[in-house]
Amino acid sequence: MSSTRQKLELPANIVIRDLALKIEKSPIDLIKKLMLNGVMATINQTVDFDTAAIVVGEYGFDAVLETVEEAGKVETGEVPLWRQMIADEKNSTFLKPRPPVITILGHVDHGKTSLLDAIRQTEVAAGEAGGITQHIGAYQVEKKGRLITFLDTPGHAAFTQMRARGAQGADIVVLVVAADDGVMPQTREAIAHAKAARVPIMVALNKVDKANANPDLVKKQLAELDLVPDEWGGNTMVIPVSAKQKQGIDDLLEGVLLVADSNGIKGNPSGKVLGTVIEAELDKAKGVMATLLVQNGTLESGDIVVAGTSYGKLRAITDYKGKLIKKAGPSTPVSVMGLSGMPSAGDIFQVVNSEKEARNIVHERLEAAKTLSQTKKKVSLEDLFANVQAGEAKGLNLIIKADVQGSLDPIVNELNKLGQGEIGLHILHAETGNIGNNDVMLASASKAIIIGFNVQAEVDGRRLAEKEGVDIRLYEIIYRMTEDIEKALKGMLEPVLVEKVIGRAQVLQVFAASKFGRVAGCKVTDGELRRGAKVRLQRGVDIVYEGDLSSLRHEKEDVKEMRIGFECGVGFKNFNDIQSGDQLLCYVIE
Ligand code: GDP
Repeated sequence: MSSTRQKLELPANIVIRDLALKIEKSPIDLIKKLMLNGVMATINQTVDFDTAAIVVGEYGFDAVLETVEEAGKVETGEVPLWRQMIADEKNSTFLKPRPPVITILGHVDHGKTSLLDAIRQTEVAAGEAGGITQHIGAYQVEKKGRLITFLDTPGHAAFTQMRARGAQGADIVVLVVAADDGVMPQTREAIAHAKAARVPIMVALNKVDKANANPDLVKKQLAELDLVPDEWGGNTMVIPVSAKQKQGIDDLLEGVLLVADSNGIKGNPSGKVLGTVIEAELDKAKGVMATLLVQNGTLESGDIVVAGTSYGKLRAITDYKGKLIKKAGPSTPVSVMGLSGMPSAGDIFQVVNSEKEARNIVHERLEAAKTLSQTKKKVSLEDLFANVQAGEAKGLNLIIKADVQGSLDPIVNELNKLGQGEIGLHILHAETGNIGNNDVMLASASKAIIIGFNVQAEVDGRRLAEKEGVDIRLYEIIYRMTEDIEKALKGMLEPVLVEKVIGRAQVLQVFAASKFGRVAGCKVTDGELRRGAKVRLQRGVDIVYEGDLSSLRHEKEDVKEMRIGFECGVGFKNFNDIQSGDQLLCYVIE
């Protein structure tokens, strides 16, 4: 064996198959080596870093723990803030297992709400005094003496909105699929959201009580989406349940604990206190009531908390049952009083030393928000190459929407071919249908570009995209789309210049003004006219002048712009042939 040992970065947990691929050895060989070291594992099983490090050591690799930062960057581009902070302490011996935090996703009407209710009620049935009477956006149940935290707002809109703000609320996604309906568009969407967030997925196969339930068909559909059920040799747990008849709930909870164990969910109860805002509301008597999910450290009453751009000294902490508590450790959802303003769901919160420090942080955030809104563009195809060169992006994340399945498949094929070069392409989600809010949220959270083929962006989606700085590109010819992306990958895409009409006016009269030659007396009929912008003068169908709007006056005063409804005088550079009745169009190039 050569004396130079190769460095190998490994995650905290890795599936045997992936580990074998990483070191380019046969998985069988690897399993044998593991057996010699006293570890019995199958190809789909996960081993932790320490175990993996020992076996790869035998092949001449020096394993180092992959930094959490790098792991989070691979597909989503950005590391959730709290993961970064926990990463600071990753080698700390203080890391302790904490309850897993679960979110429930799935297609509408497949039983997400019913399942959350059923799970909550098993707690009541288990004899908990009073049960859970109030809803604070999250609750906990106990199974085998261990706690599990459930986020109470099902659906991926909430999940992805959190992620867009840098938070990662959930450790495990329970995907609800109705056994009588199977995989549906929002099921696929949910899978895309969970995968983009790199959160493990397990499946609750719901409504198995129904006469037309067809669990095998659903398992086949799941396997086609790379969620191969464990009973078929895959590593996705698929658990039959009936939320309505409260069957299979225990199995589901046990499954959750197994998935949690194989993913090493940990936190440091004595570390920095931080977590995510689950929801917030204004109570007339109590002021701002916020539900916080503690993710690291231990929150105590009297702590000074900064959440987003609000802060305050916590006056009272209650648990999900409304009981007053003094302390809350990792994975505990609590309701708190004492914040000065309303934080938003998905804001990260942290404990600081003094109110002064809190004020400073909030001040910095408000300033940063101002500059951010001025330079919001997150990713655009034009900027891709520069971002990759600057080390800010590793590849291009795409969300594809097309009119029909028949056009989706060839698009995905073509793109996969393009993505084999130096800069990788990751298709996070490909689905038929128009571009809506959910697509835009996913794109924003994952720094992705949305490609639409023969589809439109819905009004809401378009508005949100503008706000979030998401690039939506619409195409009607596959070749044009692949050409654009190919050019972007090679850094050859020219920025597209588009003409944006900002106003229209009608010429009512023509004046002879000595200094400017002739001036058009106009009434602005739409938008505004702006000095320095471009203008086009139309007479009927003919364009008689195209150039700059060089002078703009309102009642003898020079003005910069003139809004709809006002009358003004307009002069054009080197052009005098103006007639009343001409139409004026004012535009800018973007
Ligand atoms: P969500 O939209 O995913 O939150 O779905 P809901 O929880 O609102 O459930 C949709 C419908 O399916 C409701 O009418 C439920 O009563 C019904 N449902 C939910 N779970 C089950 C189940 O296990 N069996 C049967 N037969 N019906 C169910």
